[in-house]
Amino acid sequence: MKQELLESMGLGTKSVHAGQRPDPETGAVMTPIYQTSTYAQSAPGVHKGYEYGRVSNPTRTALEGNLAGLESAAHGISFSSGVAATDAIARCLKPGDHIVASNDLYGGTYRLFREVFRPFGITSDFIDMSDLEAVRQAITSNTRLLWIETPTNPLVRIVDIQALSDIGHEQGAAVAVDNTFATPILQRPLELGADLVVHSTTKYLGGHSDAIGGVVCTNDNEWNERLRFLIKSAGAVPGPMDCFLTLRGTKTLHLRMERHCSNAQALAEHLVQHPKVSKVYYPGLPDFDGHELAKRQMDGFGGMVSFLLVNDSLEAANTVLSSTQVFTLAESLGGVESLINHPATMTHASIPVEERRAAGLHDALIRLSVGIEDIDDLIGDVDRALSTL
Ligand SMILES: *Cc1c(COP(=O)(O)O)cnc(C)c1O
Repeated sequence: MKQELLESMGLGTKSVHAGQRPDPETGAVMTPIYQTSTYAQSAPGVHKGYEYGRVSNPTRTALEGNLAGLESAAHGISFSSGVAATDAIARCLKPGDHIVASNDLYGGTYRLFREVFRPFGITSDFIDMSDLEAVRQAITSNTRLLWIETPTNPLVRIVDIQALSDIGHEQGAAVAVDNTFATPILQRPLELGADLVVHSTTKYLGGHSDAIGGVVCTNDNEWNERLRFLIKSAGAVPGPMDCFLTLRGTKTLHLRMERHCSNAQALAEHLVQHPKVSKVYYPGLPDFDGHELAKRQMDGFGGMVSFLLVNDSLEAANTVLSSTQVFTLAESLGGVESLINHPATMTHASIPVEERRAAGLHDALIRLSVGIEDIDDLIGDVDRALSTL
């Protein structure tokens, strides 16, 4: 299919076709895994667009076209992991520059900005981005990057991408959105004014918990050139096999997200009336704080649900976490299989206890990545685990 034709087509069609065409050599319908480090030249400097595997690879090119198509971006640059994608953006800053980031964000991003970039003179502040005035106040004349995450992890809070993009741009800062939790099926930040979208493709885009990867999508030619220069020079490239697996994943992204959303909604509604649960965090619940904004900004509420036990103790949480059979106790999210996680001792354990509790990450807060299994089995599994309390 001509790629220009795809631009006017739906996200399901883009999931399947963007960035791809039958292999010109053989007609193979699926993009082959080009497991090669180098490419033959017919004369010095005369080649078919590929010289060396760190710089480019046809399987990676197909994946980049696919992800860019989904985010309605002109460019997609894929990386060896989500944090490598974030790292590449931060490396475009220089000593003295300042980042304003959301205070409820992926722990690895916090660690990267705080512990890797601060020693190089790039400072960062972490702000509650639902408070637009606080964001305005945090921006200084040195602020070069606004880093947004929505929905957040694990409290699935929603912040206003459009309003924050306007604020960032008024001050001359670039605006990046980590869109890992929503995916382009549910939220397209570039259409809302952001300059850069970042994904850990490890999660929903790959969707099968079998590959690590990251991507940055942008319409800005300068950012594209800088990031391509960086990947060539610093080398955080994904291997062709991982690109193939991720590309295989994105073909069903729209179908999977539908099921993640409907399962999560049903499970959240069930948990709300459960006597052993005191609070449920899910943007699809009508009385959830970010519900109206999520309705405006997103095309669905996602597959992540967190809940708090009435008995707010580590023991109670441990009992539930060790009792599920369908939900596997593990870090990560976004795969076809359901996972259960304990932020206080697993994904968010590196945050000091007081800070963690102040941020609402209670001891008995449990996070679910709701998979695509049958909803009755998921509800039954959680009910059985809660009945052990
Ligand atoms: C997992 C994750 C990342 C980091 O991605 P990796 O692929 O693990 O490096 C970044 N942001 C969010 C929201 C994530 O969930």
